[in-house]
Amino acid sequence: MRLLNEPYHRAVRFLGMNGRRTDPLLLWQLQIMEQALHAAGESVTLWLTSATEGPHGAGSMHPWGDAVDFDLVPDPGSVAEWERLLTICRTVLGVEFQLFYEQKPDGSNSHAHLELDPG
Ligand SMILES: [Zn+2]
Repeated sequence: MRLLNEPYHRAVRFLGMNGRRTDPLLLWQLQIMEQALHAAGESVTLWLTSATEGPHGAGSMHPWGDAVDFDLVPDPGSVAEWERLLTICRTVLGVEFQLFYEQKPDGSNSHAHLELDPG
C-alpha cells in the first residue's frame, strides 16, 4: 500500500475535533485488507483519500479520527466490482470496523469508507 501519499500525511499530522488524530488502527486495517486482496490474486492498491479533513456529512466520524476513505487503484469501474473486492476486504475486517462503498447519487466520487465503531 502506498500509504505515504498526501492524504496519509494529513491523517498523521492534522488534528480533527478535540485535537484527535486518525486512529492508527484504521491505517493498520487498511494494510491488512490490501494484503488480503493481494493474497487473493488481486492487483489492486488501496489509496487513502480522506481522513479527518474535508467536508463530510453531519454525524460523520471523520472529524473525530474514527473514519478514513480510500480508493482502489486501478478503479474497479463498476459497483459490482467494488463490492466484489470489498467482500474480500471484509474477510479480514475486525469486528470493531465497518466498511461501506459510497458514491454520490449521480454515481460520481466512488470510494470506500472504513469506520472504527467499537460501540
Ligand atoms: Zn468516509
